[in-house]
Amino acid sequence: MTPARPGAPYTSSMSDRARILLVEDDVRLAQLLDQLLTAEGYDTVLARDGQRALHEGLTQQFDAIVLDRGLPVLEGLDVLTRLRSRGVLTPALVLSALSNPADRVEGLDRGAEDYLGKPFDIDELLARVRALLRRHRTSVPMVAVPGGTFDVASRTVSTRTGQDVMLSEREAALLERLARRPNQVFEREDLLAEVFPDADDPGVVDTYVHYLRKKLGRQTVTTIRGIGYRLGALS
Ligand code: CA
Repeated sequence: MTPARPGAPYTSSMSDRARILLVEDDVRLAQLLDQLLTAEGYDTVLARDGQRALHEGLTQQFDAIVLDRGLPVLEGLDVLTRLRSRGVLTPALVLSALSNPADRVEGLDRGAEDYLGKPFDIDELLARVRALLRRHRTSVPMVAVPGGTFDVASRTVSTRTGQDVMLSEREAALLERLARRPNQVFEREDLLAEVFPDADDPGVVDTYVHYLRKKLGRQTVTTIRGIGYRLGALS
């Protein structure tokens, strides 16, 4: 029997199946990759152009991104740069026909964790995806928040002014929920159900937003009138 954990914080990695954002415009290759990853037991979401990839990456949560470079609308590395600048730190494996050393260096410098040239060996691709997911799960998750970086495991926000602010378990759970999807507006009732499952008064959400603002500054959380809250603007 699993002991009840009242007030257990929301965590993003409770699902057994890893979620992968697959970004590939070549229809046949996209289909092949989708089938391969699904057969390995991953949940995939397919995006066929850069704009779509950016949208999915900003509004959904993934454990890894497999990213083509040459894409319609927005180039793969531009997608990655924009995701990183908005606080999305999901590890990415870039797949590209551009695979000389300078291309690889550019990919890694712009935020990719790994880079594989096309054509690639299927077993090698799957092994690299597994390695990416392992690293992701064992590494300490860091999330961008307004004015600093949030270390989820130690519940500490390191501000740009060099100060470390320690959060309570519930403050940390609320901040993580908001920061994992920095562009999403959350309804109070949804935050209540997801972050404070043992409470039934949405006022508890407002109380913890107040605590977060007190510790980290007013800009940390933005109020959306009549709806709820979202993370404050990431600079
Ligand atoms: Ca392509």
